[in-house]
Amino acid sequence: MSFNFLPVQIPTFFVVSSSHRRPAMLVPLLGRPGCLALLCITVLWPSILCPVLQGQTAAVSESGGSDFEAGSHLPAGFQLITGRYVDIVTDLPIDDELRLLPQVFEQAMPLWCQAFGVPPEDVSDWHARAYVMLERDRFEKAGMIPEHLPEFPYGFQYGNDLWVSEQPSAYYRRHLLLHEGTHWFMNRYFGSSGPPWLMEGMAELLATHRWDAQQVNLQMGIVPGSRDDVPYWGRISRVQQQLEDGSAPSLEAIMRYGNTAHREVEAYAWSWAAVLFLMEQPDTKAAFQEMLQQPMRSDLTQTRWLFERLRERWPKIRQQWNAFVSDLDYGFQSDAGLMVISAAPQAITRESVELQVDSRKSWQASGIYVTAGQRIQVAADGSFVVGRVPADWRSEADGVTLEYHNGHPLGRLMMAVAAPMRSEEASRVINEWPVGSGREIDLTQSGELFFRLNEASHERADNEGAITVRVELLQ
Ligand SMILES: [Zn+2]
Repeated sequence: MSFNFLPVQIPTFFVVSSSHRRPAMLVPLLGRPGCLALLCITVLWPSILCPVLQGQTAAVSESGGSDFEAGSHLPAGFQLITGRYVDIVTDLPIDDELRLLPQVFEQAMPLWCQAFGVPPEDVSDWHARAYVMLERDRFEKAGMIPEHLPEFPYGFQYGNDLWVSEQPSAYYRRHLLLHEGTHWFMNRYFGSSGPPWLMEGMAELLATHRWDAQQVNLQMGIVPGSRDDVPYWGRISRVQQQLEDGSAPSLEAIMRYGNTAHREVEAYAWSWAAVLFLMEQPDTKAAFQEMLQQPMRSDLTQTRWLFERLRERWPKIRQQWNAFVSDLDYGFQSDAGLMVISAAPQAITRESVELQVDSRKSWQASGIYVTAGQRIQVAADGSFVVGRVPADWRSEADGVTLEYHNGHPLGRLMMAVAAPMRSEEASRVINEWPVGSGREIDLTQSGELFFRLNEASHERADNEGAITVRVELLQ
């Protein structure tokens, strides 16, 4: 959560100019009464975002994190930890994790600069104060929370002040500090953090981090390798749970979140996923970067701009989003490739078509279009290296039953059918068919055939080789 630097709030409904042409797909988005908009300064967003930001290793400075004695002027029960870019005021007993928070923030500053294309000299004299609160009441009584701020369960940013409620894990406490810090950075530099999905999605993306206290090294914008890396973060689990129980929002629903949507934790998870997808997907990444260079505004202007740019591709993007969320898991890496539907796949014929399926890549487009009701035959030959430990594991298209992924043997040939989605639908997991070395399949969906060998995206980098797949129409 955050407030703009400008203290003036103008409640208004988002109004679409009558001269603005609405593309058909935008109607559901724009048809709703809009959100409470914050007055903002419009500035240009100058640069390119890097999905994963790697901090430079640095020594702990002598001044940082050790002089909370300087807080003797604070009311009893509070302690101060000073740092170059942030001072921490807390009612918690100081331990090593807390003592290093200003160092985490100091490491984050060049990464925020890098992410938003901001020259480091522009922020060299910036300074924030972060309240890390065990008992909110104490801070209220001490006048450290302005009365006009709303209730907030996790964190809040207002001007140069950040508030973080104490969390059950050190990871999540740092995460919230970096999340509110991202709002602080964007609001202070750009005058706004954009519409709710972008504001919270960017904050979640950059706050998801890896911190090495020994090396004083911070990485931001990571996808966590495991649940244990990010205790109490829970974004991936929430996405997976909602996909499973059928309550997942559509991509459009995420992008039209209003100002109150993020009272629910799930909105943070989906905003994070949406920003990650739009930043990585080949069909959207260039437009997303261009959108970030538009004036930052808290209303739907940027969202509408993005839809306009992607209007023709949007039906494909819906399906590609479903493929992305189907695979989103701890350790997920887009390096293995995200689904990209071909521009003009050709209808399948009775003549056998041969393809190579690369073991290092995720969904690979065949360029073959099939129709529900058809019966096809898929056959596969060849072998590939699916693992290296303790020695090379060779697999054929049936996979190896020593290990399973998604309920199927590791390395098994899998097939999906994907087609542009003409209307907005709730996000859902895409169907996958296990093919193995060969089978006949009665198709229940129309679209382009996609193939991959069954393995998690982050396990593919050590693979080697491809298998040959032949596809033909039977009837
Ligand atoms: Zn936030």
